[in-house]
Amino acid sequence: MSLIVQKYGGSSVSDAESIKRVAKRIVETRKAGNDVVVAVSAMGDTTDELLDLAHEVTPIPAPRELDMLLTAGERISMALLAMAIKSMGYDARSFTGSQAGMITDAQHGAARIVDVTPGRLSEALSQGAIVIVAGFQGFNRDTKDITTLGRGGSDTTAVALAAALDADVCEIYTDVDGVFTSDPRVVPLARKIDRITSEEMLELAAAGAKVLYIRAVEYARRHGVTLHVRSSFNNNEGTIVYNPEAGIPAELGRNGVEVEEPIIAGIAADLSEAKITVVGVPDIPGKAAQIFKIVAKTNSNVDMIVQNVSAAVSGLTDISFTLPKSEGQIVLTALTAEQDAVGFQSLQYDDQIGKLALVGAGMRTNTGVSAKLFEALYEAGINIEMISTSEIRISVVTRADTINDAVRVVHTAFGLDADEVAKVHGGTGR
Ligand code: ASP
Ligand code: MG
Repeated sequence: MSLIVQKYGGSSVSDAESIKRVAKRIVETRKAGNDVVVAVSAMGDTTDELLDLAHEVTPIPAPRELDMLLTAGERISMALLAMAIKSMGYDARSFTGSQAGMITDAQHGAARIVDVTPGRLSEALSQGAIVIVAGFQGFNRDTKDITTLGRGGSDTTAVALAAALDADVCEIYTDVDGVFTSDPRVVPLARKIDRITSEEMLELAAAGAKVLYIRAVEYARRHGVTLHVRSSFNNNEGTIVYNPEAGIPAELGRNGVEVEEPIIAGIAADLSEAKITVVGVPDIPGKAAQIFKIVAKTNSNVDMIVQNVSAAVSGLTDISFTLPKSEGQIVLTALTAEQDAVGFQSLQYDDQIGKLALVGAGMRTNTGVSAKLFEALYEAGINIEMISTSEIRISVVTRADTINDAVRVVHTAFGLDADEVAKVHGGTGR
């Protein structure tokens, strides 16, 4: 008997009808002889609606109370789902995050899972019940308060449950057919990826691919959990995200089949970043350290950093970096406050940038990937403003209004185009 963890996102449980449809799917999995544990998100846009409501009451809701409010969303869907399953003649029991043993740190709104003690879930499973767990929430032992894991946190709940219960696979059900080589709404010829390593998935998620949340992928990678990302609206095989060292579990029917991995797994685009340039920085030791210490104090997530060659006459240089637009003002204010101490001339802020990331484990052993990327952009007349590379990723910054073209031409240049246009069911990928 296998243990399968399934996660259903908000778009898969948006109303009573969908909840019944999902209940049927869960029962099918049970009937096939598996133990089933389900992590469920709040129905449809419930989380957004609760957030709006909180902000109507007060501009800055207290974090503890906000978590209390938001976790109600998942409580609703878990109870409805358990009811629906029970009405079909199968035993089902719902559990809140704390009942399920999701122990987190104390950080409201962005808590991290520190331990999972799923005793009650194992007990329910041994009694033959289907287990339904509220996604996105946990409990802190010191404060004894309810926490949430950050937006999209139900993915992480599912992966953490799969790791703690040693599940055979963790199925992430969404409203798209799997992970695509690029966003099918931008690249009509994007193709579904059959299998991808967790390392590549991590890079794609970090670079803006929205189908899986980065924390969940990180957790899966660290704990060796195999993911199967698929649609809850059909029975097609989706995308298997696996750890090459552990291989692909036999249940997924791919064992022993040696397939050569493609050089490029996918291309992600991100329009949520901005660029700050610190102009006229004295080119002497310690200045970069000073600048980024100021930036670090704001907790901003800096991504790319580029320092120009300094002009010989002036001995001054420029340092540019990218960061989420939402953090731009805070960082500008912090740097301005220290302008005299650092001794730079001015700051420039540019929020009209787009970032393209090309990801593939095969890059390690293939030279010429960057040349091909730059060539494709050049032929399309797209200017590159910044470049950064890692072992399995090359990122470039371009003007925001050229990013979609950039993704399309690069997709074609690397031979990723499918023969037919991808079917998009109007889904959001959540
Ligand atoms: N309901 C939460 C959100 O919308 C968690 C999730 O959907 O995974 O962010
Ligand atoms: Mg949601």
